Amino acid sequence: MRRLLILSLGGLIVGLMMTALTTLPSEGVQERPRRLLFVNLSLGFRHDTTATAAEVVTRLGWRSNPRFYTTTTEDLDLINQWVLPRYDAIMFYTTGELPLSDEQKQVFLDFVRNGKGFVGVHSATDTWYKWPEFGELIGAYFLNHPWHEKVRLIVEDRDHPATRHLGETWEITDEIYQFRDPFSREKVRVLISLDNSSVDLTREGVQRADKDFAIAWCRQYGKGRSFYTALGHREEVWRDPKFQEHLLGGILWAMGVLPGDATPRPRPAK
Ligand SMILES: [Zn+2]
Repeated sequence: MRRLLILSLGGLIVGLMMTALTTLPSEGVQERPRRLLFVNLSLGFRHDTTATAAEVVTRLGWRSNPRFYTTTTEDLDLINQWVLPRYDAIMFYTTGELPLSDEQKQVFLDFVRNGKGFVGVHSATDTWYKWPEFGELIGAYFLNHPWHEKVRLIVEDRDHPATRHLGETWEITDEIYQFRDPFSREKVRVLISLDNSSVDLTREGVQRADKDFAIAWCRQYGKGRSFYTALGHREEVWRDPKFQEHLLGGILWAMGVLPGDATPRPRPAK
């Protein structure tokens, strides 16, 4: 009898608490937090900046609206049909031929294709040369880096969330990549490219006949989105508020939070 009384009293208290919770004023505009899976694994060249990258991206998520929580990992086993769908985007700051089973590869591509986001940073294009579908997703493979100096970049798209804070040009000191196939302006929308007048085009290693050096781009991938920036070699770049805003815009766009046009278009006339 006594136990019954305690149980029903407990029930009453729980009931009262539920009522109180449901009658609390709504938070209104606060959106649900998103989740980012940050794969920070280098099986080829390893940058000194991987720890900084993890710290910066985690902090960007905290101050973003909507907030996103970052899981930084070197564990590719998280790419599976149970864990990956809990995330809104997957981000790569990687190198090398990462071990992934055929089934995991399918889960990874389907994740983006069915409406989620992919973000590649810097050496992410120096990853999975032996998996061409990844090359299509990210938009290019790394060829080499003819320059490591202060360069001027042309902001080709000034409306995209990743670039609209930058103005017409952006001067930055970083390692500057040159890309090879499958890069094509018919497949990706270039957001930022190198101002060729700011570098020495006769430098050894410069190979592109078209002298088209894209730096950041995005593409639609099925119902999902893929964003890539070639910047992010140097510690100073990761600490640069302009770069952080660039990356944050790219992440939120890839998550589908912020709108932005990914329609490919030709190289602008000089
Ligand atoms: Zn680098």
